[in-house]
Amino acid sequence: MTIYLDNNATTPIAPEVREALLPFLQQDYFNPSSMYESAGPIRHAVENARKQIAEHLGMQHTELLFTSCATESINTAFFGAISANPRRKHIITTAVEHPAVTEVCKELQRRGYEVSYIGVDRQGNLNLGDFVRELRPDTLLVAVMHANNETGVVFPIERLARITKETNPEILFFCDATQSVTKLPIKMNGPFRQVDMLAFSGHKFHAPKGIGGMYIRRGTPCRAFMIGGHQESGRRGGTENVPYIVGMAKAVEIAAATHAEDTKRIEKLRNKLESAILQKISHVEVNGAGAERMPNTSNIAVHYIEGEGILYQLSGRGICASSGSACTSGSLEPSHVLTAMDVPFTAKHGSIRFSLSRYTTEAEIDTVIEHFPQIVARLRSLSPYWDQSADQPRATE
Ligand code: PLP
Repeated sequence: MTIYLDNNATTPIAPEVREALLPFLQQDYFNPSSMYESAGPIRHAVENARKQIAEHLGMQHTELLFTSCATESINTAFFGAISANPRRKHIITTAVEHPAVTEVCKELQRRGYEVSYIGVDRQGNLNLGDFVRELRPDTLLVAVMHANNETGVVFPIERLARITKETNPEILFFCDATQSVTKLPIKMNGPFRQVDMLAFSGHKFHAPKGIGGMYIRRGTPCRAFMIGGHQESGRRGGTENVPYIVGMAKAVEIAAATHAEDTKRIEKLRNKLESAILQKISHVEVNGAGAERMPNTSNIAVHYIEGEGILYQLSGRGICASSGSACTSGSLEPSHVLTAMDVPFTAKHGSIRFSLSRYTTEAEIDTVIEHFPQIVARLRSLSPYWDQSADQPRATE
């Protein structure tokens, strides 16, 4: 049996979503742009899905584009904005964004753009003073994520967008909301009214992989990134992924109906997991615990052992989680998010992320609570830095 606690990476498709999209993989396969009668209901299904998602997020349906994923939406925001505004060459982002943002920023730096990366404090909170200082007359775009995929730390988007627009209304404000759409309240006609563009991805909330969304506020200077056919009012070429668009709308509908109850339950389970781990294991801490966090995410720093070892052992017991570090070209690079948070060296390599969903059960959390301390104890017993008998790090000369 698999215990799946890696829902920030991707989520299983909800059964209702699968049911809703199946007809569009089978008999309702027509191209929504075709002129014959059979295509009418398909076009209708796409537009209904658009209206449903737009309403949930407080946007006009004409402001929502369907894309293939958040990465495409993010590329659209950056490259669409720079091609519509070629004179301004300064971008502001944070030091803890997902690679979908940071790699685009690096590419733009190679093309002559200047990028300011705003740092965070030990809890993962954005350094607001630095943010304000970096806003300049030549700033084109601010790109800040809503919720961090590794730690779950939530950034104050409403406040950041307001400060940006008060400083210079011409600066475009983009928000990567991939981890928060359907999980945190987002209203583009409410608190997010000063956000110009926003990206999300269906597979983070129980829709399939391969479908994403992109909000572009009416009047925002942003050119098409995917150039091709006239789909999406000429703003994104490519035949619409009808089944997955319908599926994503269904996923939004379910999330909207169950959000309040799910959030309470998930947060309770996450807190149970964290308190049990903190109580049973010495030299552990929760990264970002002092900041506002997503209720489903727990990033646990286990000092003096490697995260990869923990993951491997968890996996052997059927538990799927993820580590803060990524294996790049044979060398273990610590997570850029934990590095930016100044997580000590002894824990940066030993951080584990558990991310829950509405399908996570209490019995699953109890199983992790049972196995995790055993795994840590075993790995520490093999570590030259750990004194097993004293249950503390070995004193070094
Ligand atoms: N942004 C954030 C914060 C993410 O967590 C992810 C995926 O993990 C992405 C962007 C990219 O999403 P996708 O792979 O669906 O393009």
